[in-house]
Amino acid sequence: MARTVYLNGEYLPETEASVSIFDRGFLMADGVYEVTSVLGGRLVDFAGHAKRLERSLNALDMKMPMTEEALLEIHRELVRRNDLEDGLIYLQVTRGAPGDRDFIFPDPATTPLTVVLFTQSKPNLADSPEAKRGLKVISIEDIRWGRRDIKTVQLLYPSMGKMMAKAAGADDAWMVEDGKVTEGTSNNAYIVKDGRIITRELSHDILHGITRAAVLRFAEEAQMKVEERSFTIEEAQAADEAFITSASSFVTAVIQIDGVTLGEGVPGPVAQRLRQIYLEESRARAV
Ligand code: PMP
Repeated sequence: MARTVYLNGEYLPETEASVSIFDRGFLMADGVYEVTSVLGGRLVDFAGHAKRLERSLNALDMKMPMTEEALLEIHRELVRRNDLEDGLIYLQVTRGAPGDRDFIFPDPATTPLTVVLFTQSKPNLADSPEAKRGLKVISIEDIRWGRRDIKTVQLLYPSMGKMMAKAAGADDAWMVEDGKVTEGTSNNAYIVKDGRIITRELSHDILHGITRAAVLRFAEEAQMKVEERSFTIEEAQAADEAFITSASSFVTAVIQIDGVTLGEGVPGPVAQRLRQIYLEESRARAV
């Protein structure tokens, strides 16, 4: 069955939604995105995603194309029209289609932003086999641009990173810059040592994960110790546990890093507890 998607004010069958070849998202990766998870037909952390969208847009001289309430209504309408129980809502905003290719930004008064949203159904999203067994990751050099805090659609290198991981028989890659882990290809990275949760501090070097913010808040509420600092692959390999967070994977344990198995090679107690707390709290607060 064809999905119903949203494009510039209209709900359309996916086969009828099309964007200009001059769209700057297509020509220049001049756009930003958000992914919000849906559990039991309700949106997880919508307000956080809307705030980060505004921040990404403003950092690139674009404005929110509508109010947060209007955006929420579109998300909900897509959930309804597609009967979405568990899955994701992908949202992308680009600088629009000026009708020709030019490096100079078009005038927003004459070139409106392009706004696209679509659903991705993922039955039992919170119950994935990967989360039960834990992930194997490899390390790769982080050669992305310097504003990774802006959630742009320039995802070629992260996509290549996933392919490198796959070729190496792993699930994902952690990126390393100046000897320190920045983040996963599509998630934030953590280690656990002697009961302390360690994750890189916020800066332009990493995406400010919405799941990261929630998980660190829940960890502190549960009296767990959190240290925001960078770490090396060697420190991670010697850690008691490791895990990642993202809107689509929630909290997922990492059990192997560059071929070195952590502990018993199964998801550790801290990662499992945080996953459980995160899922419970997210379901309770979903809108
Ligand atoms: N880092 C990167 C590079 C990502 O692509 C993502 C997911 N979009 C994250 C971190 C996690 O962010 P969030 O928890 O908001 O999904």
